[in-house]
Amino acid sequence: MKSVIFIAPPAAGKGTQSAMLESLGYVHISTGDMLREEIAKKTTLGLQIQDIMTHGGLVSDEIVGNLITKKLTNLNKPFILDGYPRTINQVNLLNDLFNKLNINDYVVIYLEISLEEALKRALGRLTCSCGSSYNIYYENLKPKQDGICDNCGKPLQKRSDDNEESFKVRFENFIKNNEPIKEFYQSIGKLHTINSENSSEKITEEIKEILKND
Ligand code: AMP
Repeated sequence: MKSVIFIAPPAAGKGTQSAMLESLGYVHISTGDMLREEIAKKTTLGLQIQDIMTHGGLVSDEIVGNLITKKLTNLNKPFILDGYPRTINQVNLLNDLFNKLNINDYVVIYLEISLEEALKRALGRLTCSCGSSYNIYYENLKPKQDGICDNCGKPLQKRSDDNEESFKVRFENFIKNNEPIKEFYQSIGKLHTINSENSSEKITEEIKEILKND
């Protein structure tokens, strides 16, 4: 199985599609989840990055690079990178790491979405600590009972950075950094683009098609 790198603005659906791939046996590596875990545990690193994340800024390349290096070293399984790389410098660091670890069997999937659609998704998004995700603005994604997880019954939470102001900073950061990233992966023949405004089922179908044919 080929590994997958998702490059996508926030709320484009990379979490949902990563969960789908996880069920097929992929190891899901999300830098955002790893960083949120550090904050939740109030580690030294967590305290250092809390403010940056709440305001939608980017954590340093060195910090996220170290987290990724630890995860990929000795993994030897197909994986999904969700949220990394996010800058051209991170692309170069990842490329060096892939060369060192002999990783070449992967595709890069760009999930394309407009600011308006992504903002709607982010403002309606609710998540559960069990990993389930909901959206109050979409009938088919609402929890059965307001604010409660269908799968485990725990109360749902809103991410602190899913507010309009922080979301726009995150989206603009993405657009600013993404062009050279796309160009690089295009130039080495790894890039596939999917319209992420379609339903999640359609996106899943397209991802499976890419993995089958590449
Ligand atoms: P995400 O869950 O991918 O939307 O990431 C949430 C937040 O974590 C981002 O807004 C950044 O503050 C931080 N973050 C996640 N991945 C990275 C990365 N590759 N580089 C820098 N900051 C990151």
